[in-house]
Amino acid sequence: MKKALILTTAVLFGMVLFLGSSATQAQAETTFVTIGTGGITGVYYPTGGAIAKIVNQKRKEYGIRCTVESTGGSVFNINAILSGDLDFGVAQSDRQYQAVKGLADWADKGPQKDLRAVFSIHAETVDLIAAVDANINSLADLKGKRVNIGNLGSGYRQNAIDALEANGLNWETDFHAESLKAAEAPGLIQDGRIDAAFYTVGHPSGYYLEATSGTRKIKFVPILNIDSLLAKYPYYAKAETLMSNYTGAANTEAAVPTFGVKATFVTSAKVPDKVVYAITKEVFENFEAFVKLHPAYAGLTKEAMLTGLSAPFHPGAMKYYKEAGLK
Ligand code: GLU
Repeated sequence: MKKALILTTAVLFGMVLFLGSSATQAQAETTFVTIGTGGITGVYYPTGGAIAKIVNQKRKEYGIRCTVESTGGSVFNINAILSGDLDFGVAQSDRQYQAVKGLADWADKGPQKDLRAVFSIHAETVDLIAAVDANINSLADLKGKRVNIGNLGSGYRQNAIDALEANGLNWETDFHAESLKAAEAPGLIQDGRIDAAFYTVGHPSGYYLEATSGTRKIKFVPILNIDSLLAKYPYYAKAETLMSNYTGAANTEAAVPTFGVKATFVTSAKVPDKVVYAITKEVFENFEAFVKLHPAYAGLTKEAMLTGLSAPFHPGAMKYYKEAGLK
């Protein structure tokens, strides 16, 4: 794993020799910044890419070079940011809340005091897809089936468990639960190795395009009976998944009811203000270009990007929001 914020000189010794002594004047320090994302068929991966693209255009001005890493998702990203292995990451708003309060995956470790919010991005819905031939029309029909609930580092695993519990199902005893990374699930459902899979992602995503374009017919299963979740957890909201994004799905209805969260961009209190400031500023000052980089950002506003966050804002981000009159 790369150690964060490696300061290095852009001009290597060999190049100095090659170019002669005058080249030493061109020496500049580059700050390497790594962004943790998710599986490559999700929306976090292209989101990290979109942020990196915007920021890297100003490499000469800031001396910042952003790179993107595909990871296991929200929980992995938050933990890697806190340990200093990543500088930034995309994480579900519910996972940000839990980390800050010391809940769920952080119940043993306690509140994660160094986690900092930068901004929020697109909406994500919690969805269950199932093979039509598996006859799964509700969560109750998952009994006895083979179902992916997600890898441990993912954000969506807990969403799946919450949805199952709200519907009276126990993932450890009622069916064969798989803990696969999201990127593997569409292929395995097409191969007949699993019957159904949960995922929490923005739309459209490559994951569902892949899952719904094979020969095995796939449908989105409504996630109902969630009132208890909405009452208990402040970070969940009612939502629906639009089928117009996935014309290969077997659904005939325009939208499938479920619940959702937000994708957020987080960092550590230990990341320098000037780095967080530069990234925040570039994304916001190039907002029109940024929102064009993925269809999941349709309808996004600058004001909305400052909501859905539970960690304190990083001072570098806050500096920009104050300057821009957003705070
Ligand atoms: N929300 C997912 C997770 O944290 C990742 C979705 C994505 O990669 O777009 O597990």
